[in-house]
Amino acid sequence: MAHIVVVEDERELARLIAQTLRDNGHQVEVIQDGQVALDRLTGPARITPDLIVLDLMLPRVDGLTICRRIRRERIIPIVMLTAKSTELDKVLGLELGADDYLTKPVSLRELQARVTAILRRVEMMRDESRTQESGTDPITHDGLRIDPIGRDVIVDRTEVNLTAKEFDLLYLLASHPGRVFSRNYLLDRLWGDTYSGFERTVDTHIQRLRRKLGGSGSTADRIVTLWGVGYKYERIAENSEPESRTQ
Ligand code: CA
Repeated sequence: MAHIVVVEDERELARLIAQTLRDNGHQVEVIQDGQVALDRLTGPARITPDLIVLDLMLPRVDGLTICRRIRRERIIPIVMLTAKSTELDKVLGLELGADDYLTKPVSLRELQARVTAILRRVEMMRDESRTQESGTDPITHDGLRIDPIGRDVIVDRTEVNLTAKEFDLLYLLASHPGRVFSRNYLLDRLWGDTYSGFERTVDTHIQRLRRKLGGSGSTADRIVTLWGVGYKYERIAENSEPESRTQ
């Protein structure tokens, strides 16, 4: 069973879509207004559904804007509904990253098939990334060693005691050196629904993590803040070990 949000202002169509999805065992919430959808999906009290069915033409805020905003900070699959093929061109042209598209009149059978396919795909991807990111290989960058099995962190031969969340945060960042993670993404990923809107939680954990790592060498500097964006982990070795050494 998945939690699905249907954003559609045509009452009868919204009802039919919701009914079809409910018949297939999903929990469905219908939103008929663009602004309400934006608030529910990106605001401070935002919800995290498994999938969003999003109409393009909506009152107050259109589907393109909503799609763009969600994509900027969240990783929820979106199925776009479009009334005309010209609209479809627009959606595809903008490469908004909707996961699928359906043109109206919507075939309910087709919609159900697409929704099932996407949910299955997402589940598979989740499993994959779970195995990758909670993998068993220790990370060793310079003087830092992170062992995901024993959940030990060693900096310059000294063990550092981290809380579970601090460990998860460090492990995620250090597994992807150079990649920028937004605070929203980290919050979604490591804390989930309960902490929606509490981006400060991430900042607090980063600060504590830096303090703990900082006691032994320059490891703390490796977690870089990108103001207004988020955090990334930077490898020091790439700068401190010049190419000439290996030549
Ligand atoms: Ca509409």
